Amino acid sequence: MEKLFNSFGIKVTEKQLELFDKYYRLLIEYNDKFNITAITEKNEVYLKHFVDSLLFVDKLNCENLIDIGSGGGFPAIPIKILKEDINVTLVEATGKKCEFLQAVVDNLNLNGVKVINGRAEDLAKREEFREKFDACSARAVARLNTLCEYCMPFVKVGGKFYAFKGNAEEEVLEAKNAVKILGGKIKSVFNCDLSGAVRTLVEIEKIEKTASKYPRGNGKERKNPL
Ligand code: SAH
Repeated sequence: MEKLFNSFGIKVTEKQLELFDKYYRLLIEYNDKFNITAITEKNEVYLKHFVDSLLFVDKLNCENLIDIGSGGGFPAIPIKILKEDINVTLVEATGKKCEFLQAVVDNLNLNGVKVINGRAEDLAKREEFREKFDACSARAVARLNTLCEYCMPFVKVGGKFYAFKGNAEEEVLEAKNAVKILGGKIKSVFNCDLSGAVRTLVEIEKIEKTASKYPRGNGKERKNPL
């Protein structure tokens, strides 16, 4: 698997390869009961989950990362495996997925990783989480306009929200209003090829505090996006 990572310019140590191997095994072990991913074949998991989470790892600038809607841990756990020194908070609404995430943290002996079972729109209202992170990440959780309302409140002014997307041109246009209202500015859009699929990192900088009425809650972020 080292060659696969290297072919995407991702350098991994022996120890990191062992951690990915453990992570893959836990994913398979828990998947039947917990329904974590539809992808189970080893090469596919490495490509579509592990490598996909790391395509833009050199662009991420953070010490204190919160990941929203972590599911099986993507992209934040692969990022933590590569960037050993960062602190990570994983937020996931489904209890069973949190149980899996905690098992990964324990079995891989990851330091500085917290798993929180809750909804982004509730946690973002709490003082201990609001505007406390220098970076937020999310992959495959919602369209960008909705996602900005979930994620931007967690980010400190000067920090970044990184949205992991497929081809995102249309979503970026659609999210312009939400980004502005929430105190952000689209800084860069990076595109990359993952074996024929376009993968995109949208980097949004937080330039002003987010007004306290956001996120609005009660499902408004999805039903009636900004
Ligand atoms: N990020 C993972 C999982 C994507 S599936 C990946 O890329 O593979 C989306 C996940 O987000 C689900 O596990 C769902 O439970 C969670 N989720 C959706 N809305 C959420 C919210 N408002 N707060 C917290 N978690 C949420």
